[in-house]
Amino acid sequence: MMQYISFLDMKSPYQELKGELDEAYHRVMESGWYIMGKELDAFEQEFAEYCGARYCIGVGNGLEALHLILRAYGIGDGDEVIAPSNTYIATWLAVSYAGARVVPVEPNAFTYNLDVEQVESAITSRTRAILPVHLYGQPADMERLMILADKYDLKVIEDSAQAQGAHYKGKMSGNLGHAAGFSFYPGKNLGALGDAGAIVTNDELLATHIKGLRNYGSKVKYYNDEKGYNSRLDEIQAAFLRVKLKYLDDWNDRRNKIASFYLDSLAGIPDLLLPQVLESASPIWHIFPLLHPKRDDLQRYLKSKGVDTMIHYPVPPHLSRAYSEMSMQKGTFPIAEKIAESELSLPMGPHLKLEEAEYIVNAIRSYQ
Ligand SMILES: *Cc1c(COP(=O)(O)O)cnc(C)c1O
Repeated sequence: MMQYISFLDMKSPYQELKGELDEAYHRVMESGWYIMGKELDAFEQEFAEYCGARYCIGVGNGLEALHLILRAYGIGDGDEVIAPSNTYIATWLAVSYAGARVVPVEPNAFTYNLDVEQVESAITSRTRAILPVHLYGQPADMERLMILADKYDLKVIEDSAQAQGAHYKGKMSGNLGHAAGFSFYPGKNLGALGDAGAIVTNDELLATHIKGLRNYGSKVKYYNDEKGYNSRLDEIQAAFLRVKLKYLDDWNDRRNKIASFYLDSLAGIPDLLLPQVLESASPIWHIFPLLHPKRDDLQRYLKSKGVDTMIHYPVPPHLSRAYSEMSMQKGTFPIAEKIAESELSLPMGPHLKLEEAEYIVNAIRSYQ
């Protein structure tokens, strides 16, 4: 029988947590205080604790989180930041906003995360930071990146937008580098009901600096120490995030079960490449990515079977019009380009049922 399966069910999370979310909504509405208040303070403390880190600073979104970290480290004009050639464009934009130059490095062809070997050869006297992305929810090989960072005196800034709750060698993503940027965009594993983001760090100086930067550069109202930004996390979103944080591990476990099922039941299909997981990493499967040489055709076929899929991402940043000033031709970053040409994301989420995953697997197996 034909089924319809959406890529990500955005309604069931509210249905499941309706009582608590409605309670949080009323609490904030009736408080008469909507920006920079008790809910944000509490969320910052709870999320820092969750990550096992000392500080969390809530900001407007994930892009701003990364941008403010770079600013606070004084990274800008004339500096270089190493970032993956395959990522969501926000990673690159954060570097561009800061005024620094992105130096793209190719990913490992099987984990899709920064290839540490190639990072070292991209380091120059201008390099100030490495910006690894825990893409699709799997932590990058952080231990090796931190060793490089030590050797060359660089900062490592995690783009943890897709990795809330992912582990690497027993430590939580967000607590693996010098600082991390998180996004709580609604579709992320920990999602607000609007835009939101945060910075997590153990660096006290950085945390204090960013607390000013996110609020017009002022620590005392109307006394401005520098030209800051308006990038704050609303009370209402903080209140919602506090509710959803309690369910994050459970919801990540549900994704993990679906991912294990996909990995087992899709193994051995010719031409279909499954993602590889580092032994030291516990991913949270924000995205379940396949590679297939006839990706577009497979996507159309699945659509005809009622299965919605997505592509993360169809254009690598170096070939996007936004970065046309880099004048990079096709072929410059073949691995990133191959991923862009052949990646297909299967439905994945805490409310996807195992029977639906079975239907999806059968549909893929029936594709010729
Ligand atoms: C979502 C995302 C961002 C940006 O987060 P926003 O909250 O949308 O600004 C940055 N990097 C990656 C890898 C992302 O997936």
